[in-house]
Amino acid sequence: MSVVSSHHKAKGLKPNSPRPAKALCSECGLCDTHYIHYVKEACAFLNEQIAALEAEAHGKSRDLTQEDDLYFGVHQEMMAARNKEPIEGAQWTGIVSSIACEMLTQGKVEGVVCVQNHPDDRFQPMPIIARTPEEVLAARVNKPTLSPNLSILEQVEQSGFKRLLAIGVGCQIQALRSVQDKIGLEKLYVLGTPCVDNVTREGLQKFLETTSKSPETVVHYEFMQDFRVHFKHEDGSIEKVPFFGLNTKKLKDVFAPSCMSCFDYVNSLADLVVGYMGAPFQYQWLVVRNDIGKEMLNLVADQLETQPVSSQGNRKAAVQQSIPAYDQGVTLPMWAAKLMGVVIEKIGPKGLEYARFSIDSHFTRNYLYVKRNYPEKLEDHVPEFAKRIVEQYELPTD
Ligand code: FAD
Ligand code: SF4
Repeated sequence: MSVVSSHHKAKGLKPNSPRPAKALCSECGLCDTHYIHYVKEACAFLNEQIAALEAEAHGKSRDLTQEDDLYFGVHQEMMAARNKEPIEGAQWTGIVSSIACEMLTQGKVEGVVCVQNHPDDRFQPMPIIARTPEEVLAARVNKPTLSPNLSILEQVEQSGFKRLLAIGVGCQIQALRSVQDKIGLEKLYVLGTPCVDNVTREGLQKFLETTSKSPETVVHYEFMQDFRVHFKHEDGSIEKVPFFGLNTKKLKDVFAPSCMSCFDYVNSLADLVVGYMGAPFQYQWLVVRNDIGKEMLNLVADQLETQPVSSQGNRKAAVQQSIPAYDQGVTLPMWAAKLMGVVIEKIGPKGLEYARFSIDSHFTRNYLYVKRNYPEKLEDHVPEFAKRIVEQYELPTD
C-alpha cells in the first residue's frame, strides 16, 4: 500500500515565477519540484541550519574552538591529492568525476545527480541523473552559473532508485539534506565541491558581451596568471583581454545576491568535499567529513597521488587590506579578486592558510553585504562559525 505524503499535493513552480527566497534565490532547483512543500525549512536562504544538519549528517557539528573545524567544517581527515591520470577536460584533475564513475561501476549507487551543459546553450546548466560513467564524464567541468541540480528530485523518486550519489554545491546540499528522508532512498552519498562567486545565466551573458569580441562563440574562459582573461572560441582561437581593460562599471553586481550572502563556501554538509584551495598548485584539496565520505574516497585511492595538507604564511594583514577593496561598491570584480589571489599565491599564504585567506575575505565581504542589504536577516542568517571568523577583523561601521 502506498501512502501519499503531503508534499505530493504541492506543485513545483513554473520557470521564471518568483521564488520564496526572492532575490536571494540561488536557483537550487528545489522549488521546481513538489518538494517546494518544505521550502521554508529547507531553503538555505530562508532557514540557515548548518549546525543542526551537520549533527544529523556527521554525528556532530563543528567544534568552534578548533580552528580547522571552525574554517573547514566537521572532518576526519584532509589531504592534497591528484589523479595520476587526470581526466581531460575536467575542472582540475577530475577526482569528482572519477569517484562518481566508480560509484556506478562498483554498484554502490544506481544513479548520480550531476550537471551537464544544455545541447542548445553551452552555458546553460542541465542537471541529470547519470546512470553510466559516460553520462558522468559528460558532466565534468564547472558550470559557471547557478544550477538547479535539485530540479531532478522528482525524477529520482519516480525512478525508484534506492541508492543515489548527489554531486553539488553548498546551497543545493543544504536543501537536499533537509528533504533527503522524503525521497524514498535507502542510501544517499553526497559528494560536494566548495563554491563561491557564482553568477546567473544573465550575469554571465553580460560578462561575455561586455568583455569578449565574439560572445556567441566563447566555449570556455579562465582568469589567467598573466593578468588576462583567456577566452577560448569555437574555432580554437584564444582571445586575451587584460583584467584592467574590463568594464568594471557595467559589471558591477555581476555576482548573484545568493552568492554574496552565502557562508557555506566549504560545503559543510557533504560527506566528502573536493576543491583546490587548501592544496598546492596542481593538487586538489580533499575534506573527508564522515565514514560515508571515506568509503567514497577509498574507491579511488589507488588512482590518486596524495600528500599531507600544509600551511604557510599569515593571511591576516592581506585580508584586512582586502576589506576596503571589496567594500568599494561591493564591486570587487572577479579579475581583481583573482589578481589578488595570484599576488597572494606568489608572496603570501599557502595551503590551508590560503584557503583561510579566501574564506576570510569572502565572509567579511558577504557579512557587509547582508548587513547593508538585508539587515533584518543578519542575526539569523549568518552562522555562528562565520560570525567568529568575521569578528577577527575590523569592518567599516556604517
Ligand atoms: P570534475 O571532475 O570536472 O567535476 C565537476 C563536477 O561539478 C561535475 O560532476 C558537475 O556535475 C559539478 N558541477 C559543475 N558545475 C556545477 C554547479 N554550478 N553547481 C553544482 N554542481 C556543479 N573550489 C575551491 O577550492 N575554491 C573555490 O573558490 C571554488 N570555487 C568554485 C566555484 C564554482 C562556481 C564551482 C562550481 C566550483 C568551485 N570550486 C572551488 C570547486 C572546484 O573548482 C572544482 O569543482 C572541484 O575541485 C572539483 O574538480 P574536479 O576536476 O574533481 O571536477
Ligand atoms: Fe527555492 Fe532553492 Fe531558490 Fe530557496 S534557493 S527559493 S529552495 S529554488
